[in-house]
Amino acid sequence: MSALLAFISARGKMRGFKGKMVKESNPSVRLVVFDWAGTVVDFGCQGPAKAFVDGFAQVGVPVTMEEARGPMGLAKKEHIRQMLSMHSISSRWNEMKGRGWTESDVDEIYRWVTPMQIEAAGRLGRPIDGVLECVEYLRRRGVKIAGTTGYFQEAADAARAEAASFGYRPDVSVCADEVPAGRPAPWMLFRVMEKTGCYPATRVIKIGDTKADIEEGLNAGAFSVGIIDSSNAMGLSTESFQSLEPEVLEEKRNHIQNDFLRSGAHATIRNLAELPGLLEHDYPRWLESMTR
Ligand SMILES: [Mg+2]
Repeated sequence: MSALLAFISARGKMRGFKGKMVKESNPSVRLVVFDWAGTVVDFGCQGPAKAFVDGFAQVGVPVTMEEARGPMGLAKKEHIRQMLSMHSISSRWNEMKGRGWTESDVDEIYRWVTPMQIEAAGRLGRPIDGVLECVEYLRRRGVKIAGTTGYFQEAADAARAEAASFGYRPDVSVCADEVPAGRPAPWMLFRVMEKTGCYPATRVIKIGDTKADIEEGLNAGAFSVGIIDSSNAMGLSTESFQSLEPEVLEEKRNHIQNDFLRSGAHATIRNLAELPGLLEHDYPRWLESMTR
């Protein structure tokens, strides 16, 4: 490349010239992968949490919503194991049952939880406000869209069908039981990359609402982003969220953001309306640092 061409190319990258350079430098993302509950549907991730509370109640060991939310994002059976392994729940279990929990208890709770998860996934499958606009924004830029989820197949199908009826149709969606292991393993992300033909992983943005989501993105080598307002950690319905006092809202947002960043998130957004800014600023800077 001549010195002049190199100079023009560098300026193009810096200033985001219209035309070819803009396409090349901004945005260079090829695929955005969204988690489902707590990210694009089910504001506050109400469905899965409530199903775990009700499932544990069926076997005679009460758990709180906060305990149920702890391992959110993992495949559902693994989620049950992680809950049973929590100190608070395992001692409650021992006290009430007179013995420790076993793998057959995991199976029994899973049997109770399964139909509840399917019902909730369908009932709460309507896209969160701003999702459809965000998808349209990405599609206009030629970015592909995919989904990954800790839901098992039937619950994922229920969410997918309901979301599709409102117009949210990712190009590809993969659930935890379609791969050897769910989050934090990167297999679901690799599968959607394969199915959409998008690579390398640095051209993929993963957006999710839990620590497990962030780790999935990191383990795949993608740009990993935490979404705050609709998250499992915020844990509020749209109405309760909207009625928060500004200072309380700010404090909660800061707390959740710090947790995401501690988990290694490359960036956080409050909601999907902030995605364009992320694509304009944070992501290109990260990509440049990765390819330098
Ligand atoms: Mg989620």
